[in-house]
Amino acid sequence: MTDRDYLKSLRIPTTENPLKVLVSSCLTGILCGYDGTANGEYPSVLKLLKYDTIKLVKFCPEEYSFGSPREMCDIYGGTGLDVLNGNAKVLSDSGVDWSEGMIKASEKMLEIAKNENIDLAVMMDVSAACGSQVIYDGNRFAENKVYQIGAGVSAAQLIRSGFKVISQRDYASLEILYSKIDSSHVVNTEAKDHHEIDWYKNYFKK
Ligand code: SF4
Repeated sequence: MTDRDYLKSLRIPTTENPLKVLVSSCLTGILCGYDGTANGEYPSVLKLLKYDTIKLVKFCPEEYSFGSPREMCDIYGGTGLDVLNGNAKVLSDSGVDWSEGMIKASEKMLEIAKNENIDLAVMMDVSAACGSQVIYDGNRFAENKVYQIGAGVSAAQLIRSGFKVISQRDYASLEILYSKIDSSHVVNTEAKDHHEIDWYKNYFKK
């Protein structure tokens, strides 16, 4: 089932039976980014905060293991799934191996997802922990920084356990979600998910 078909199949939530959405904490405005900020503002997700038919479960995997503020980190030699399988590493800016802490944080996020019986996760793309569509391939601060298709460590942990994960840039998918939780929501049929935008298609030659 595609992510969109899955979203379309979700129940219409009520205040008594809300949809449960696990969300990267920073996307809700919590100052858990590596630099002590919320990594910018993403109205596509912030809007979720105003609905009582959504139960938001907030978690920041990197803060869980390394606190805030902290160093920035990226994945070297593969994707988040490769890190989970022991075939790639997460290194901090100063070169410290953060793989173990990132895996522990992903396991905690998975535990929360299971305990809360979440319907969906909405996570911050390009993060080495939370990215779900696109992540950096190595150091994001390198002059010739490179992107790759793939998930960060925590998103990969959720995905491989069968949870649906979308990003704050999957606007078409978010439109479906908003149509579920708000009967007055007018769906923008022009909205695109991240993998449908020109940048993605040009960069990855899709
Ligand atoms: S680890 Fe995830 S929740 Fe935490 S700051 Fe990074 S993107 Fe946001």
